Amino acid sequence: MGTSGDFQNLRGIADCLPAATLTRRHLEQLACELLEGAGYAEIRLPLLEDVNLFQRSLGAGDDIVMKEIYHCFGSSAAERERNGGMGVAERGACLRPEGTAPCVRAALQHGLLRSGAKQRLWYGGAMFRHERPQRGRERQFHQIGAEVFGFAGPDIDAELIALGTHLWQRLGIANQLSLRLNSLGDAADRSRYSAALSNFLRGHLSQLPPDDQLRLERSPLRVLDSKEEATRALLTEAPLISDYVGEQAHVHFCELREILAAMDIDCQLDPRLVRGLDYYNRTVFEWQADGLGAQNAVAAGGRYDTLVTQLGGSDTPAAGFALGVERLALLVTDEPLPAPPDAYIVLASGLASCAAQLAQMLRDELPQLRLILHCGGGSFKSQLRRADRSGAVLALLLGEEEAAQHNVVVKELRQPDTSQRTLSWGAVSGLLRERIEERIHGK
Ligand code: ATP
Ligand code: MG
Repeated sequence: MGTSGDFQNLRGIADCLPAATLTRRHLEQLACELLEGAGYAEIRLPLLEDVNLFQRSLGAGDDIVMKEIYHCFGSSAAERERNGGMGVAERGACLRPEGTAPCVRAALQHGLLRSGAKQRLWYGGAMFRHERPQRGRERQFHQIGAEVFGFAGPDIDAELIALGTHLWQRLGIANQLSLRLNSLGDAADRSRYSAALSNFLRGHLSQLPPDDQLRLERSPLRVLDSKEEATRALLTEAPLISDYVGEQAHVHFCELREILAAMDIDCQLDPRLVRGLDYYNRTVFEWQADGLGAQNAVAAGGRYDTLVTQLGGSDTPAAGFALGVERLALLVTDEPLPAPPDAYIVLASGLASCAAQLAQMLRDELPQLRLILHCGGGSFKSQLRRADRSGAVLALLLGEEEAAQHNVVVKELRQPDTSQRTLSWGAVSGLLRERIEERIHGK
């Protein structure tokens, strides 16, 4: 029989193995601490949503976005039957491609935005997009996002950007990232610009790849977000959105830049930066990394003041950003080490019950204890080898004599002095308590 089994993960739907998990968890923990510390509360959202939520929020009929969505269609007769009763406009459930629309949906549904309430929320989890998998582009990937509601001013835009910046600093990757910033103006500015851009692009239609021609028809601004080289070249000649931003949006943008400057946050103004989704207005921003190739955007966000009304709520200013966990993890080089066990119990044969009892007592008394109980038998020597390889600080040796008297032999595994001492179970618990204190408080 082979050792690699008969099955593999689906393309673009990757496993995260234990070594990589540590980096991910480190990143998630830092993000959680930082966001909660700034008054953001976590909201946990489902993986499946009504497909119409995205059809509405991502721009109705935008095939390019919609074709990335995983519909929960079945192909069996029973599933066809289940979906069969629905019209085209009610195509049922899909896997969420992003978290902003679900967050707005939940906030509205549960009354979190009632009578102008202000909210700072964050979420994390898997997102699904049917894209061509490549380095930094998965079909299942993970985001951590922050969304704020009820704040209209540039101060909150600056807060979101500052939180991202802090996170990069704490991860030790700030010097690899640069912040790009743009203003898309308000709805009226955008539609004037959109007309000018369409005009320009129509004049060069033959140079646009088919997907971008489609974008031009459906939602011209999205062409600015194209990754096609021909389009990127053409766009260097296109009109700039900054020339169309109206007075109020301009003032908002200037104030934002002032706050960022006061915090010493560097940014590059990028008049061609737009977000891939249609609902953004005014501030948009993106952090890019050198050295990630084409998939260089690690986090992005902006203001979306019209989305709440678009989803049936009352007028509520809103903004947010999301970071891509996989792409950020590629940048983190000082991998956190797994914390070693405080102790490893080694036992003579026939003492499984007694050793289990010892482990039970220690775990009961010391909730923060990291303890491995040897399982599967073997000689003292081979067990001690395993204890050593586990990185444990202490080995607790349980022989016939010790077991009979509820004692244990304690052996230091990380000190040159390898002398052993016999302690009662109570004394071992006391010793471990001290060691845990030292481990946690870094003495
Ligand atoms: P891109 O321009 O690279 O396709 P996007 O504009 O589609 O990104 P957003 O929807 O803004 O991305 O999502 C925010 C972040 O999520 C991105 O900056 C990126 O780090 C991450 N992300 C988006 N799509 C993927 C994917 N398919 N695989 C891995 N990470 C992704
Ligand atoms: Mg994308």
